[in-house]
Amino acid sequence: MCSNVRNRGCLKSEREASDVRGAGAIPYIKRLKNNRPVAQLEEHRSPKPKVPGSSPGGPAYFIFMLEIKKYPDSIMGKKCQEVEKIDDEILKLIEEMKKKMIESEGVGLAANQVGIGKKIIIVQTEKDPEAFINPKILKKSRETEISEEGCLSLPGVRLDIKRAKEVLIEALDIDGKFLQIEAKNLPARIFQHEIDHIEGRLIIDRISFFEKLKIRKQLKEIQ
Ligand SMILES: [Zn+2]
Repeated sequence: MCSNVRNRGCLKSEREASDVRGAGAIPYIKRLKNNRPVAQLEEHRSPKPKVPGSSPGGPAYFIFMLEIKKYPDSIMGKKCQEVEKIDDEILKLIEEMKKKMIESEGVGLAANQVGIGKKIIIVQTEKDPEAFINPKILKKSRETEISEEGCLSLPGVRLDIKRAKEVLIEALDIDGKFLQIEAKNLPARIFQHEIDHIEGRLIIDRISFFEKLKIRKQLKEIQ
């Protein structure tokens, strides 16, 4: 997600971006649980995930040339697949996604935004970007909030999007442990935006037909 969600203007400078990331600025995420190891991640149960660029039998590490996919790239509209095994390639992908998100001044990034159809999202936390694997929304608050969002895959487009104010998320961390996270306000919005991505949904899929007509020129410019 683009870092322009807190204020009406896009936060371009590093200083402004770090203001958004500051602990004082964001009532941040609360970890409820982080203790259960995950059986599905055991070696014998999972085939090695196929990630573009990997060579069979070759070293686990390889160089990613990540680039942000833009609308209307077909990968943006497809549901991503669950990660079955967190191996070196997945960890390397996560590191590269974090770098890409920082470089792009984003506060969130989904794996399909860099062309990988896996359920992995990066969310900016108080200190650092953090990866959440196979994230799911378990609960949403009834209370909603409308705020402006941008998206790295829709450059120049900013839309008012209604989201739940609070969410309860379940995901795996990079060690394959289950996390449950309560998020409010901006972090809750980032989780919802990024989970939408891995479910094949963009912010333009959350607006009305008439609102979409209004931005058709901007959408054409991206193509
Ligand atoms: Zn986005």
